[in-house]
Order: sequence, then structure tokens, then C-alpha cells
Amino acid sequence: MKQVLTVLVLLTVALGPGGAPAAADERGVPSRSEWLKDVKQALKGSGDHLRERAESGETGLAVNLDIDNSSIASYYDGDDAGAIPRVLRLAAVADELGVALVFNTGRTNAQRTRTLDQLEAAGYDVAALCMRKKGEAIPHGKQRCRDRFIAQGYTLVANIGNNPTDFTGDGYEKAYRLPNYGGELG
Ligand SMILES: [Mg+2]
Repeated sequence: MKQVLTVLVLLTVALGPGGAPAAADERGVPSRSEWLKDVKQALKGSGDHLRERAESGETGLAVNLDIDNSSIASYYDGDDAGAIPRVLRLAAVADELGVALVFNTGRTNAQRTRTLDQLEAAGYDVAALCMRKKGEAIPHGKQRCRDRFIAQGYTLVANIGNNPTDFTGDGYEKAYRLPNYGGELG
């Protein structure tokens, strides 16, 4: 009986209560492939939006990008992670259209060189990188960085992030909210 129960428990763990393959890890975060699907869904229409904005002929258009789990697959691929493929594809569209990529991160200045190296190795064409000051609250840093980009002459036609702190405040046109699964992806 004990063995039968053990088998049943193992089956339940493997298949999930509904009998479907287990998609989530112990923290409730889905598999990498599910995440990539969710990212794709969140970015639906983003290429068309960039094209429409670029048609205006305005100069200085830019996409404001959060880094961790918005540009770089940090959660799923670790410290030396590369680009999120769907975001890199959008970055290529931006490049073609002459829309700049400006990166806005909660990482602090101590990580500047490493971050630039990582973004470049991932294939991003970095027009600007603005980082959080030591001790600065994340939403404050994000807004300060957007304000700085605007002061430099950029118009932020899209804001791509995966946390509410990426979107608090203003200075951008369209928000693309990538998943964070209850705050698990920073
Ligand atoms: Mg993030």
C-alpha cells in the first residue's frame, strides 16, 4: 500500500493535479519555453508600433529597455545570460528603422562595464545605458533615467519592462509589460 501511495504521489508531482505535464517550478514560475511564449504575447504589435512611429520622420526616437528579464534572460539563463530572442528581434527592427535602444536598469554603476559587455555580447546596439545610483529607489532611478534620455533628445516611443517599477511615472508612449510571475523575475 505504501508503495502504491508513493507511486501515486510521484505521478501527481510529475503530471500535476490536472494530469498535464508539470510546467511550473517550485516557485510557481513556468518553464523557459512558456516564458518565451508569454514574452512573445506581451510584445505583440511592437514592431508595427515602431514602424508607424518611424514613418512620422521624427528623429531621436528610442525604445527604453529594462535589462534583467526584459532584454537579457537573467532568470532562466543565469549571470552570463544572453538576449531574449524575441526582444533581440525587435531590437533588429528598431535598428533598421533608425530607432535607438536606450537601456534603463536597476543595476548600479559598479556593474557598468560588465553590463555593457553583456549587452553587446548579446547583440544589442546600445545607444545609451543609464543605471541606478547606489541607494536610489528603483522607480526613482527608472524615472530619472527616462528624464535623462528625454533631456538628451530622445522620444521614448516604447517602454519594455517586466516589473511595475519599470512603468511607474511617465516619459514614454507605449508600455510593453513582460511577465514577472508575481515578482519572481526581477
Ligand atoms: Mg527586469
